Amino acid sequence: MPELPEVEGLAVSLGERLADRVVADVALASFSALKTVDVLPQSLHGRPVDGVRRYGKLLDVVVDGTHVVVHLMRAGWVQWHEQVPRTRLRPGGKSPVALRVTLDDGSGFDLTEAGTRKGLSVWMTDDLTTVEQLTSLGPDAVSLRPPLESPPLVAVDTATGEVGVTASTTAEERHLFWAGVLADRRTQVKRVLRDQSVVSGIGNGWSDEVLHTARLSPFALGASLGADEVGRLAEAVHGVLVAATERAVGSAPEELKDGKRGGMAVHGRTGEACPVCGDVVREVTYADSSLQYCATCQTGGQVLADRSTSRFVK
Ligand SMILES: [Zn+2]
Repeated sequence: MPELPEVEGLAVSLGERLADRVVADVALASFSALKTVDVLPQSLHGRPVDGVRRYGKLLDVVVDGTHVVVHLMRAGWVQWHEQVPRTRLRPGGKSPVALRVTLDDGSGFDLTEAGTRKGLSVWMTDDLTTVEQLTSLGPDAVSLRPPLESPPLVAVDTATGEVGVTASTTAEERHLFWAGVLADRRTQVKRVLRDQSVVSGIGNGWSDEVLHTARLSPFALGASLGADEVGRLAEAVHGVLVAATERAVGSAPEELKDGKRGGMAVHGRTGEACPVCGDVVREVTYADSSLQYCATCQTGGQVLADRSTSRFVK
C-alpha cells in the first residue's frame, strides 16, 4: 500500500507532468470507485489543472478549483502515459483501470487497482471539508499539523531544480507531540502508528521500519514507553519518513513501488538478515496482514507469539 513517502512522490511527479495542462477527458471505468455524485467526471473537461497535493495517504488532483481526491488503498496505483492508449475502457470489464484522465497533449494517467478485492476510492468535490476521509485525519506524520493546513512537504529549488523535504519541526516539538499521543494509550504502538485518526500517513510497511529504527517492540503499549523510548520513536518516525520521501520524490510513478521495498530493512523481509545486527527477520501473521521485526534489535531477543503457529501450541 502506498504510504506518505510514496503518495508524496506521486503528488510531486504527477504535479510536474500536469503543470500547465488542461483536462481533455475523464473516463470512469469503475463506477463503484466514485464515492460522490455532486461533481460529474465530464464536468472537468476543458478545465486547467491547478496542482497535485497529498493529505495523509490520499492524493488530491486539483482541476480548476475542483478536487479529485483519491485513496489508492491496498492495491491501487497511478500509471502515467506519455500517450494515453486509444482503446476504449469498458465499464465493469476485467481491466485494472478504475479511472483514466487524458490531457490536452494526449498524455495522461490511469488510476489502477490490482486484485479482485476493490477498495480504490475517488471523491470529486468543490469542497474538501465534505470528504470525511480527509476531515477525520489526524496530524500529518511529518509536519505534525492538520493535513488540510499543512504546507507541501517538498520544496523545489527553482535555481538548481533540486528537491528537498522541508523539516519544519524541531526534535523537541516531535518528542512533545508523541509524548502527548502515547500518554494513556493502552494500545500497541504499532496500532497507534497506523491509526489515521491519530497521525496520518503511516501504514503497515513504514510502521515496521519506524519501530525497527526506534528499537521498539511492535507489541509495546503506548503508555508503557519511557521518555527515552518516546524520544527514539519521535525521531524514528521523522527520520524514516523524511528519508523515504527524499528517495521517493523524483522517482517516476512506476519506480516508486520497487523504491519503497528497496529502502526497507525488515518489512517484507522475513527470513532475511537484519541489516543492523545480522539476526534473522521474523514475522507475526494476522488474518489479512503481517508484521516483520528483528528480535535482537527490538524485543531483547524475545520471539513474539505468532497466532498462525501458537494455535498449534495451545
Ligand atoms: Zn537487528
